[in-house]
Amino acid sequence: MKFTPEKCRIPDQRMKPFIDADEIWDILNNTKPDRKQVQDVIAKSLDKQRLTLAETAVLINATDADLVEEIKEGARRLKEKVYGNRIVLFAPLYIGNKCSNNCSYCGFKSSNTDAIRKTLDDQELIHEVEALEDNGQKRLILVYGEHREYSPEFIAHTVKVVYDVKKGHGEIRRVNINAAPLEIEGFRTVKAAGIGTYQIFQETYHPEVYTHYHLGGAKRNYEYRLTSLDRAQEAGIDDVGIGALMGLYDWRFEVMGLVRHTNHLEACYNVGPHTISFPRIQEASAINFDGKYRVSDYDFTKLVAILRLAVPYTGLILTARENPEVRREVMRFGVSQIDGGTKLELGSYSDSLNEDQNLNREQFHIADSRSLNEIIDELINTGYMPSFCTACYRLGRTGEHFMEFSVPGFIKRYCSPNAILTLTEYLEDYAPAGTKQKGYEAIEKNLTELEAAAERVNVPEIRRRIEKIKAGQRDLYF
Ligand code: SAM
Ligand code: SF4
Repeated sequence: MKFTPEKCRIPDQRMKPFIDADEIWDILNNTKPDRKQVQDVIAKSLDKQRLTLAETAVLINATDADLVEEIKEGARRLKEKVYGNRIVLFAPLYIGNKCSNNCSYCGFKSSNTDAIRKTLDDQELIHEVEALEDNGQKRLILVYGEHREYSPEFIAHTVKVVYDVKKGHGEIRRVNINAAPLEIEGFRTVKAAGIGTYQIFQETYHPEVYTHYHLGGAKRNYEYRLTSLDRAQEAGIDDVGIGALMGLYDWRFEVMGLVRHTNHLEACYNVGPHTISFPRIQEASAINFDGKYRVSDYDFTKLVAILRLAVPYTGLILTARENPEVRREVMRFGVSQIDGGTKLELGSYSDSLNEDQNLNREQFHIADSRSLNEIIDELINTGYMPSFCTACYRLGRTGEHFMEFSVPGFIKRYCSPNAILTLTEYLEDYAPAGTKQKGYEAIEKNLTELEAAAERVNVPEIRRRIEKIKAGQRDLYF
């Protein structure tokens, strides 16, 4: 796929800033869409083309209730068309909460003297990973504060420790990272440890607002953070994750910022971000946040639907920051990955730390504390196919060489079968009887649908592999 760069006031150059806040506001302020324009933009997106900033603004500025409904309906259709019913599951694992930055909204900020600082040592980390494997997790995102102790070498070391933990049939097959921006050399070091995605959220794309919230430490440097995923790309990390912390500033501006970031990466590296995140601010210890730009549930669902339409081929991540009702609602508009069984307190998956270390180690509060199995149960009940698939990055299907979406029939030939095989593993190794029965019924239903699909899908081979898994083999994928 070749991307046509968008004409913006700041031309795209590798490792150079690309956000012009006035330009974004000009587009937003000068776009007054009529019904036909909104419908045309939705149609373009359903044709699987990424939207421009101006087209994204058309959707953002559509406020009539029935038009917003059409946007959501478009997102629902696009999701079905592109992603099918798969939802990929992962869990976050906090490695350390030491932090030299002072981000007003975060419980880890350096000025929060109530926070007990802790970095997991190797043994503690191994216990955490064993506990996660015992639950059935296969994909983790490791999270770190920003601190001199969390050097690229340290991050790489923790990644290797995680990959080495094998318990029973348990293993972690994909480790993603959410940590501070690095220099190119640092990104190389982390890449060499075999990471999946490197995720860095810009928090807010507005430079002045950014300065307002980031009161100390290296993170004060807006441009260094803005260009961080360029450096990751330069270092060969072609699966990168972007995000904005919704609630710091006007959500409409942030959606435009995310689209601008996407087309910058496309223009410079011919590959957009692998994932986009849109966390909403949650309560946190010692948080300093006036709530002026808090995003309502209504706007939140609208913004997720707009992002789905704006970047049809990019994964959207929804986390346990949101409560189960919001998660249920928003998932229908095109979220492709969620976390399950999430715990944010350091050391809390294994509960292996001393009690005196047990206080105040979480970054913020979460609103969905259901277990992984409860989430899987609900996904199956509501017609989704839970997936722990890690095949693509292990087969080198990453970055510009691979966009599941851009290869016709890819999802049906690879993603759906791999979802089925990884769910089979889960059902065999970790699921209680009720989930196991429902899970196999769902697998049968999906296999029947795949048999009926026009694409060439080798259903007999999927069935053979299911039997092999039942007989004890693991890690079979297409
Ligand atoms: N320290 C690194 C950084 O700041 O990029 C990485 C880890 S930070 C713990 C991960 C993300 O959590 C941040 O990028 C921010 O978007 C999000 N976050 C921080 N405080 C939050 C809050 N109160 N509610 C929701 N998300 C929050
Ligand atoms: Fe530190 Fe990240 Fe929290 Fe900022 S958001 S205080 S950098 S952990």
